[in-house]
Amino acid sequence: RTPEPVDYAAVVAKVMDAVAPHVGAGKVADYIPELARVDPGQFGLAVATVDGAMHTAGDADTPFAIESISKLFALALVLARDAECDGTAVGSGAGGLWRRVRREPSGEPFNSLILLEIEKGIPRNPFINPGAIVVTDQLHALTGNAYAAVRELLRAETGNPHLHMDSVIAESEAKCGNRNRALAYLMADFGNMRSQVAEALDHYIRQCSIMITCSELARAGLLVARRGVRADGTRLFGDAEARRLTAVMMTCGTYDEAGEFAYRVGLPCKSGVGGGMLAVVPGRCAVAAWGPGLGPKGNSVSGAAALEAFADISGLSLF
Ligand code: GLN
Repeated sequence: RTPEPVDYAAVVAKVMDAVAPHVGAGKVADYIPELARVDPGQFGLAVATVDGAMHTAGDADTPFAIESISKLFALALVLARDAECDGTAVGSGAGGLWRRVRREPSGEPFNSLILLEIEKGIPRNPFINPGAIVVTDQLHALTGNAYAAVRELLRAETGNPHLHMDSVIAESEAKCGNRNRALAYLMADFGNMRSQVAEALDHYIRQCSIMITCSELARAGLLVARRGVRADGTRLFGDAEARRLTAVMMTCGTYDEAGEFAYRVGLPCKSGVGGGMLAVVPGRCAVAAWGPGLGPKGNSVSGAAALEAFADISGLSLF
C-alpha cells in the first residue's frame, strides 16, 4: 500500500505543543560535571525526510554530547566492514562481531556488570555499555582508529566537517569511567577484547563525547532511514543489515525501557545520556529529539514524550 503523505511541518508544530508540559522534566545526568551543568529547560526537535526536507523546532541547533547514540553509528560501520571483509551476506559476513555480542535485550541497566559475569564475557547486545565497547573494539581492530571512523562517518552524514568531540567531556568520562573499565577488563579476562583494553576504552569514550545538534543527528539518522544509503548516494550497508540494525534499535536501543518504547512509540530508537533520542521510520524519515532531563532508566523524558507524540500524530508507528 502506498504510504499516506505526511505534513511534517504540521506534525512538528503539534509535537512541540504536546511536549511543552514535559520540557524540563527528569534529571540531567550528573556522573560528570559537564553534563550536570547543562540547562534542563532546553528542548530541540528535528525531522529529516528521505527526500531531503528538514523540519526543526526549539533548540534544534544546540550541540549536546551524543553519548550512547554513537553506538548506533559504530555498529553500522562494523556491520558494513565485516560484510565487506568476508564478501558474504550478513549473518555469515558479520559473524566476527556476532560471535562476540548477542542481540537480546538485557532488562538490566546499560552499565550493569551482573549478566556479563554470568554469561562469560559475552554482552547481551551492542547497545548496552559492554556490547558497545566490544563493537568499538572490533571497529578499532578493523580500522586502526575507531573514534576517527565514527567521527568521519558523522561528518559526512551530517554535512558538518567540523563535528568533533569535546575534550573536557572526554577527560571527565575517562576520570569517572571505573565501571566501564570494570566491564572491559572483565570481558578481557573472558578473552573477548581484541585491542589493548585501555586503548579500546579511550576510543569508546571519545566517540561518546562527540558534540552534535538535533538537526545534524536527524540528517545522520537518514543513513538508517535510507536503509544504508549514504548522503553522497553510495551504500554503506545493504537492506538486510538495515533490517537487522533497526531490529536491534527496537529491541535494545533504549536499554531496559525498550519494551516501554515499543509500546509508546513503536519506532526503532537509540538514546544517550546527553538527552538525545534518535528514531527512524524506515524508508521515510529520521526524528531527533533532545531534552537533557532523564528518566530513571537514562532516557530523555521530553525526548520520549516527543517521539510518542510524533508517532501518535503522524501515524508512522510501525505497529
Ligand atoms: N558515556 C556513557 C557511558 O559510557 C554513555 C552511556 C549512555 O549514554 N547510556 O556510561
